Amino acid sequence: MRYLIDPPAIPSLPVIGREERFPVRRVFCIGRNYAEHAREMGATVDASAPMFFCKPADAVVTDGADVAYPQATHDLHHEVEMVVALKAGGRDLNASQADDAIFGYGVGLDLTRRDLQAIAKAKSHPWDVAKAFDHSAPVSALRLASDAAPHAETRISLYVNDDLRQHGQLKDMVHGVTDIIVALSKLFELKPGDLIFTGTPAGVAALQRGDRFRAELENIALLEGRVGNG
Ligand code: MN
Repeated sequence: MRYLIDPPAIPSLPVIGREERFPVRRVFCIGRNYAEHAREMGATVDASAPMFFCKPADAVVTDGADVAYPQATHDLHHEVEMVVALKAGGRDLNASQADDAIFGYGVGLDLTRRDLQAIAKAKSHPWDVAKAFDHSAPVSALRLASDAAPHAETRISLYVNDDLRQHGQLKDMVHGVTDIIVALSKLFELKPGDLIFTGTPAGVAALQRGDRFRAELENIALLEGRVGNG
């Protein structure tokens, strides 16, 4: 195939213990998946209807690279989230098909231009400018599901400049991983390479230029980085 302009590079993530990388196809995110976080945002949880949005694959920041402070905001927020990577897909998956589709797990930040999100909410506009901007999805190396899988007690936490900002346990999620994959597959034909951000616990707050962050999915994944000047 010959193209008239250079084709884009395929974004990819390192995999712990493997030389080969995981190619990223799409990035799906669930909103309001921890009740306490929904409360702090002044929202309520609709347990029967998970709410999804997307980021472009090339929003992913990998390998501990600095995250450039984005343009057009004065209120960049962190949302630490478990990230699920898919090795298979399909439509209308059942629970066991959903579980079998999981490649591995990581931890990431669903970075959010909170000021632009507030404007979008007030005007009933889409969330894209608040969520789907450049460099809005730093993600750790992935842990193969066959190596280690999270469980209900697994802790997720975020430190900024060594201060604990966010923490929770996966049992606090309104929709568990299997349910999220099943629900997404009713809306999209899922594909190998898809990533899913699974929602954030309470404690979201602003990041400043120069901040260092450390996100941990207990015994599974670690993401360390820094907010650049942008
Ligand atoms: Mn989020």
